[in-house]
Amino acid sequence: MELDPKALALFKEGYDKIIEGIKTLGFDVTDENFADTAARAAKGLHELIHDQTQVRKDVDALLAKTFPAKYTEMVISKHNTCFGVCPHHLLPVIYRISMAYIPTEKVLGLSKLSRLARLIARGPRLQEDLTHELADLLHVNLASQGSAVYIEGLHMCMAARGVGAHEARLVTSGVRGVFLELATREEFIKLVVAPPTTLV
Ligand SMILES: [Zn+2]
Repeated sequence: MELDPKALALFKEGYDKIIEGIKTLGFDVTDENFADTAARAAKGLHELIHDQTQVRKDVDALLAKTFPAKYTEMVISKHNTCFGVCPHHLLPVIYRISMAYIPTEKVLGLSKLSRLARLIARGPRLQEDLTHELADLLHVNLASQGSAVYIEGLHMCMAARGVGAHEARLVTSGVRGVFLELATREEFIKLVVAPPTTLV
């Protein structure tokens, strides 16, 4: 993803102010560790917040490349680690995203599901919105029989601030089409909530 110079400059201005704020708290910001911190932090934030016009283009291109479906069984991509920030605090969120769909005529390449989740997750957005946008894309854009998305989010705003909340995960799910049927939904949930195990 290309970094936008205008956004980077604005982010850096903001971080310059933040460093001033840190100075008022008694920290020596002339220490060499603070040299170029504002510029580095701006880049770091941009890596968590991507340009939406570019994201839309990438998502469209990704969803346009499909293969004819040979089978109409559930396709699942589970435990994809993705990153974003929350819109309330702009603090990082680590997501574990699992998604599934049941194709009608077309399927996506397997790696495309992870890429799709990673693309959509970047940015200041609500986990609920992320969940439903992914579910819609896999249902509407793939003209699938149905889709399901299950996301566990570790929000730094909860983990780092609240006492005892550091283990809390926000869980959201969204289902479309045939996944609205209880049995299909349960099959999906059973498969994705299982703890991750190593393959070898
Ligand atoms: Zn937050």
